[in-house]
Amino acid sequence: MKHLPTPPTRRSALLAALGALALPAWSATTAAAKPTPPAPGNALPNAAVPGGIARLPLGPDATRPVVTLRDGSDDVPVLVLGDERGWTALVGIALATVPGPAQVTVQRAAGTQSLPFTVRPKQYLVQKLKVAPGQVNLSKDDTARADKERAHLAKVIATYSEPLPHTTAAGALQMRAPVAGPRSSSFGLRRVFNGEVRSPHSGMDIAAALGTPVLAPMQGRVIDTGNYFFAGNAVWLDHGGGLISMMGHLSAIDAKPGDLVQTGDRLGAVGATGRATGPHLHWGVLLNRCMVDPALFLTA
Ligand SMILES: [Zn+2]
Repeated sequence: MKHLPTPPTRRSALLAALGALALPAWSATTAAAKPTPPAPGNALPNAAVPGGIARLPLGPDATRPVVTLRDGSDDVPVLVLGDERGWTALVGIALATVPGPAQVTVQRAAGTQSLPFTVRPKQYLVQKLKVAPGQVNLSKDDTARADKERAHLAKVIATYSEPLPHTTAAGALQMRAPVAGPRSSSFGLRRVFNGEVRSPHSGMDIAAALGTPVLAPMQGRVIDTGNYFFAGNAVWLDHGGGLISMMGHLSAIDAKPGDLVQTGDRLGAVGATGRATGPHLHWGVLLNRCMVDPALFLTA
């Protein structure tokens, strides 16, 4: 997939968080699907848009096909769920993806082929803000810090582990909101400060009082904790198969790397650390290293 050129200041997007209103645009993609029995992953909405997830039926096969997505010079592993009756690839689509033709590579015992699909456009809202000059761009020190953190987090984000994430009986990859509270639907919001484009909001903001417990949205393993320039105190969870979530702006971190957590286990508390204007949780979800809309995993 082609990505838009990203100016250095925008690349802090990995950690940055802020938000966007967007109408769901579930769209059917591609891949001629043979009718197959319900399989894990089939209950996810098919949202082949930037910031969404393309659900690509792969048909039956005796063994799980290996699917990869090309990103620059990397072949990024893609989550494949199902069983021999029918496999499904779930492809996270980066917010910066240019809509149009895209493809993954599918390796089976019978051979390797590319599987095309279409990324449909999705208009995220644009938020234009006027702030004092000097508040738009980072200082030299802050830029250096953010760059260092981005390099570290790129490794965190590249985590791919098994077992694959747990699915419900209906085949859904289901998460619970990490805190109760009003959710902004600001994922994907494109922000323009004084006419300068900044990173789009890459997660969901949930308003909650300072100190409210933040709970694991799904079972997983803690793979990183720390204090970051944009995300503040943050906890990163690996759910397996390239599905990762992060909780940011925390006032307290109550987990450490290596911890195995169950859905609902406490990870920390709501705060306003990092670049936050007030207490709230920033919740990000990644699939094959792409920030996707956390709302896709919530059932209600
Ligand atoms: Zn946010």
